[in-house]
Formats: sequence, C-alpha cells, structure tokens
Amino acid sequence: MQYLPLGVRGRIPRISYKYVRTLGRLAFNYMHLRKFTSAEAESILNTVCMCEEKTLKQYRDIDYRHIITTDCNICPDPHLRTLLMMGANFRPTSSSGSAENISDDIRREFTSLISKWSNSYALHRSELQLWLNLCMKDVNKQLKTMQTLIDADYTWLKSDQIALVSLQKDYIITYVDKAANMFAFICKKHYIKQLLQEYKLPTYKVSTLPSQVIVDLHHTYAKQRGITFNKEAYNKIAYAYTSHKATKVIADVRYIAGSYMCSLQPLSVHINMILNKLKPKIYQLWNTALKNVNTSALRIWMLKNSTEIPYRIKLFNRTYNLQPQRQILLETYDIKTLYTNIPHDDLLIKIWELFESISGLNKHNTMKLASNRKGYKIVYGNSIDHLKTGLKQFYSLRDVMHMIEFLVKNTYIMVQDTCFQQNIGIPMGTNAGVNMVDFYLTKYELDFMVQLLNKQRWDMLNNFSTTMRYVDDILSVDNASFKQLLYIENTLDGLSGIYPRTAVTLQLVDNASTLNYMDIQILRDQSHNIDHFLHNKLYTRSYDKRDGEKYRKLNITKYPSSRSLIAHKVSYNIILSQCHRFVILDTYRVDFIRDAVRLFWDLSRNGFDHNKLCQRFKHFLLSYRTRLIYGSKPISLFREFMCNLWDK
Ligand SMILES: [Zn+2]
Repeated sequence: MQYLPLGVRGRIPRISYKYVRTLGRLAFNYMHLRKFTSAEAESILNTVCMCEEKTLKQYRDIDYRHIITTDCNICPDPHLRTLLMMGANFRPTSSSGSAENISDDIRREFTSLISKWSNSYALHRSELQLWLNLCMKDVNKQLKTMQTLIDADYTWLKSDQIALVSLQKDYIITYVDKAANMFAFICKKHYIKQLLQEYKLPTYKVSTLPSQVIVDLHHTYAKQRGITFNKEAYNKIAYAYTSHKATKVIADVRYIAGSYMCSLQPLSVHINMILNKLKPKIYQLWNTALKNVNTSALRIWMLKNSTEIPYRIKLFNRTYNLQPQRQILLETYDIKTLYTNIPHDDLLIKIWELFESISGLNKHNTMKLASNRKGYKIVYGNSIDHLKTGLKQFYSLRDVMHMIEFLVKNTYIMVQDTCFQQNIGIPMGTNAGVNMVDFYLTKYELDFMVQLLNKQRWDMLNNFSTTMRYVDDILSVDNASFKQLLYIENTLDGLSGIYPRTAVTLQLVDNASTLNYMDIQILRDQSHNIDHFLHNKLYTRSYDKRDGEKYRKLNITKYPSSRSLIAHKVSYNIILSQCHRFVILDTYRVDFIRDAVRLFWDLSRNGFDHNKLCQRFKHFLLSYRTRLIYGSKPISLFREFMCNLWDK
C-alpha cells in the first residue's frame, strides 16, 4: 500500500477469480423441472423412452424397467465420461485456466483500473507502475501455489458441454443419497411419472392460489415478523425433486421440497436459528424433569452427532457388570414416514407443550428471543431492559409458535406448473425441518420417561436411558422392553409406550450383538483376557459405509482427487479432520492405525503425495491435545503407522 500515491490509498482493489464449477453444478438437472409446464411433462409421458433400446438394457432397473443407474458408462462421449467418473465434487480445469492466462487476465484488469484512477485523481500512469509490478509479482507468486498443470483429460471443453446437453435431454441427472460424490442417471419419463404419483391426497392437495399470491403471502408474513431479506432473491415456490436411493432394495423415491431461494426460506431460516438457541433448554428440561435420587443422571436420547456415542457406550459399560454368557441386545430402528405423516395439530400441540415446560424452567422471568445482526439470543425480562444492548426484535415463545404454525400451514410445492399445499407432515429439505422433528419426538420421549419416573420404575428408567436417537435413527442398548413399548398404544406392566403410531412407523433395521449405527460399529470385546478392563464390554470403532453390503456395489469415491482444481492445503487437511474423528470413534489403537492406513491409501490412489500425507499425519499426532494417544507417545504411534503402511 505504501507504494500507492497518497490520494489513492485506502481504495485497495480486491482480486477474486472464479474456478470452473464442480461437475455436479454443471451436470445436475433435476432442478430444471421447475421450469417445466404440465404440457411439456405430458408430452414426455406420451413418448416412448429410450429404455427399450437393447444397447441400454444393462442400465435398466429390474423393478421399474426404466433406466436408473449410477454407471457413468451410459455417457457415450468418452471425454465427458472420463470426467463424470471423477465424481460430482470434481472441479475440472478450465481450458483457459493456465497460470499465464490468469495472470494476463489480472494484468488487464489492473491496467484498466489504473487508467480509471489516473483520470479520477489526475495522476500519471507511471506513478503507479512500481505498485503494479509489485502486485503482479505477488499475484504470480500466489498463482504458483495453485495447481497450474493442465491435463487435457481433466479440462472442461466445449465438446463436453455439448455432450452434456444431449445427455440431459434423455436423463434426469441427480445425486445419490448418502454418496454425494456420485451421479445417478434416471429416465426422464420415469422420473416425472414418479414425481406426479407422490403428490396426492391426503398429504398434498392442489392449491388454487396463483403462485405470485403465495409468494406475496409468505413475504408479507415474514415482514410482519420483522424478518428482513431480499424480496427479489427469495421469490420462488419450493419445487419437488429427488435423489437416487441406491442403497434401498427397491430404489426408493421420496421427493424433497427444494427450498433453496424460495419465498418461505427466510422464515424457515429464522425459525431454525431460534430452535437451535432453544435446544440447550431442552437438555436442561430433560435433566430437571427426570432428576431423582434413585438413578444416576439420565441422558437425553437425542444425539448431536455420532462422536457422542463412544462416550455413552463407556457410560453403559461403567454401570453394568455382565456375565460373559449373557447376550447384550443391540437394536437399531429407522423411523419411517417422519416427514409425511405427522399431523399438523399434534405437531403444534407437542411443540407448544414443550415450549411451556421450557418457560416453566424459569418461573419468575418471561423468556424471550432477541435478535441482532448476528443472530438470536435468549433474554429474560421486557424489551426496555435491553435498550442499550443493540438487540432489535424480541419474540416471545408464543410469537415463535405462531411463526412455526404459519410455516407448517403455508407450505407449498410446485410440481411442474401445478401448485400443491402440504396438508400433513413437515416439508423435507427446509431449514427448520430437522429441528422441528427433534422437538416433536423429544416431547414424546420425555413424556414416556416422566411416566416411568412417576411410577417409580427405576429399573426401566435405567434401561431406557441407553436409548439414542439421531433424527430418524434409533439405537437401543441392552433393553428388551424397547420393542414392546414402541407405540403409545402398546402396554407393558401398566406402562404405555413411546411414539404416536399415527405419525411415525418404526422399522427394525438390525438386532445383533454387533451392529453398525451411523458411522460407528459397536462390538463386544471377547478377545482380551478376563483381567482386561474392557473384557466382555462394549466398544466402538469407526465404520466406513463403503464396507457395507449395500454400498459395495456403488464403488464410492469418498475423497477429492488431487487433479481436482482445489487448494491442495485443504485436501491434505482431510488427514487432520478424519484422524480427529478416528481418535474419538476408535476405542482401540489397532483400529485407529487401520483407519489411518486406509485413509492414506485412499488419498494416495487419488493422486496425493506420499511424503506430504505422512507429514500431515505426523503433524496431527504431535499437535494432538493430549500428550499420550491410546496410552502411547505420538512418535511410537507414527512408527506403528509407518510399519503398517507397507505391510499389506
Ligand atoms: Zn424409460
């Protein structure tokens, strides 16, 4: 800056340079359907699709008899095919993206800026020459750190664009559920047919309101509630789309309302921020409501993420002393129809009851949620007390409830040019959806636990305190009563069950003495001798979904390729984030080393440098927050890692 003439200082230009978009952004076309009219959809439904062609037979789904595939070989253009095989997160190099080209581009921008400045500030161009040279030197230095090698195979060409358009004509290209880096190609006719089938009574009813009226309704309400947003940007109604559920036996279709930039999104985002702020209050409520002298602290079922599980398993181990012969029953359940079956009235009643209990935690002060530019904050007392705090809007829990009610009752989804209103359930894919489900289910879970407390069933309270739920995945540990008390209608020894059958269906996924839950495997240690402190107890290790039966056929590419145009530093940091995960999830050192070695080879296959990978791993071990990891010094763990690396 000191090289700039005085008058110009403080007006430093900012250089931003855009990468070519990722392949996913280029290829996915499921969102194009929002521009479809029903006449266009009708015409596609009436034509014969190419799924009948013999050459394409191998890509046909056995159940639907239409093309549903994740095989990129379906793309006839060889160059585009090579690219697609790199996955949706792959960022190809631009054909004009060499360091020299970028440098030339930037120099051109600088020159035009300088001529502008020399006019405005009456300067001679030569006065800025030194500054320009220094800037360009810096730019070129920075460019060198980026990947500049142009590999023709991985460059986005004009011919790729043309081949892609022709591919998009026949197929809906969407992402694959639980494998975000993959492409799914689905016959357009089939896709539209399934989409139309999903939108029917009683869940959805056709709305007669013109879309602009709905958008205005959403905008007016949000404005009344003091929510500011750009009206022009959020001017669409949510549209329906689906991902490909490749892991289901019959490739499942569950349509999601794409809420991105839709008119209800500002309200949904705000409700979500408020519910996030209220979540700690639920934990507090759970602990307060279930406090008693006969049991140790009873943990809430709801999990924040999978890293909590190893700790909870440790707690379970501590409280139980089990005979080796006795089985430990582990069960996982999947909550079905979560988003499409919850009756609106029940949802609102339960969330309101929960809100009332939360405000009952602090009886002498009224709780409010206050917002400023940064977000929301829980405050007590009236707004006059907070005049100097810079907080702008104040919402009572009743206000929040009113907002939730509006959101639930005014959810619309466009399917081609028809507009549907959702009558039952919570729209999937909206910001606040997951939190609303968590609040609703937690209320039922808490009521069930309070029932056990009131009936002084201490044994049962302990048994059920090992239950965990992450959104719609439930894990029950060593509790034979769980399956007998799934629904409120179930009774056992004068107790009634947990969940409302009208809203949810629970499906047993797995019951065994070893099972996988989220990204964790839970096992019982039978290998160590009797003296070992984990003998006969449960332990955890990280579970890679790629090992699962259902995923093996998918050939998932999990990590980015080194050829992808991203900052290499970021890629090498995968080592740090993944190893942090492994340390938490893996109870035993052998599992940690195994995971680290596997990660090394995965990244190595993607073209990453061996030496750099090892350096990053060493850095992780040496900078870990405790001096001993798995009771060993970092350097001895590193040696063990190196020994295992080539020992295959
Ligand atoms: Zn077809």
